[in-house]
Amino acid sequence: MKKLLPTSTAGSLPKPSWLAEPETLWSPWRLEGEDLREGKRDALLLSLKEQELGGIDIISDGEQTRQHFVTTFIEHLSGVDFEQRETVRIRDRYDANVPTVVDAVARTKPVFVEDAKFLRAQTKQPIKWALPGPMTMIDTLYDAHYKSREKLAWEFAKILNQEAKELEAAGVDIIQFDEPAFNVFFDDVNEWGIATLERAIEGLKCETAVHICYGYGIKANTDWKKTLGSEWRQYEESFPKLQQSKIDIISLECQNSHVPMDLIELIRGKKVMVGAIDVATHTIETPEQVANTLRNALRFVDADKLYPSTNCGMAPLPRHVAQGKLHALSAGAAIVRQELSN
Ligand SMILES: [Zn+2]
Repeated sequence: MKKLLPTSTAGSLPKPSWLAEPETLWSPWRLEGEDLREGKRDALLLSLKEQELGGIDIISDGEQTRQHFVTTFIEHLSGVDFEQRETVRIRDRYDANVPTVVDAVARTKPVFVEDAKFLRAQTKQPIKWALPGPMTMIDTLYDAHYKSREKLAWEFAKILNQEAKELEAAGVDIIQFDEPAFNVFFDDVNEWGIATLERAIEGLKCETAVHICYGYGIKANTDWKKTLGSEWRQYEESFPKLQQSKIDIISLECQNSHVPMDLIELIRGKKVMVGAIDVATHTIETPEQVANTLRNALRFVDADKLYPSTNCGMAPLPRHVAQGKLHALSAGAAIVRQELSN
């Protein structure tokens, strides 16, 4: 990006109420068949417009065509039985009824490639596309086939690489992998988590990002955050190895969180998507609050590597709140951009 401090979101934005029930995760679609296909496209256009109006520089799909950031991707693969369900503990935090891996997993068809081509045709701005990371994918499934978290993660990494290559060919500028699981399973992250992520980006020429956060503002996550104490040092576990990795951009949570800002020093040299918008509250940040977070981050990130963003996705928020937060983000970034040019 030539523009200093280009703004983006972590990925998801609220869906219009005619498409899916608002303020809900795994919200069921309100349309079917051809109407649903058309509705998703319309929502994608709307989401693009809302990002443009909100002053966002790096456009995402707002995840308008997916029900959930992990599940929807997995639904497109073979080897996973969505009828056969088991209860597992997600990220050591809450129980969920999840599908079962019953056979070798494979990507028999592209997942988001047509959506990406569609978005590409609508804007000249750089676009960023989010995919789930291998470790977060295995954490959302019951594995009755490989019986090894690591083996399954390597299989998913291969599949993600196939999708990522086609997204790149469709004109996506940044491919992001969402790995909230990196803030939980530290040994796995360092033993094979980052390695599988590098497998997922193998051969890509576009930029790559990993998004590591403390989750959506849902109750299971806010309850978990209460147990983390006054200083959240989880990033300290994954950052040293990520700094050495081939990933270009690290997307992280900073606004209102208890993450000590100086941890960013551990990824010096990487581009950093700094979360300057809290997604766990309906209170809209002021531009000055956003600017403060960015100024703070600038102590540890060079200005040309700082990408103002949101802590996480905004799917569960009311639309007007998300819209207000987009405006605050771009206004806050503009303040700091101005200061840097003085
Ligand atoms: Zn997130």
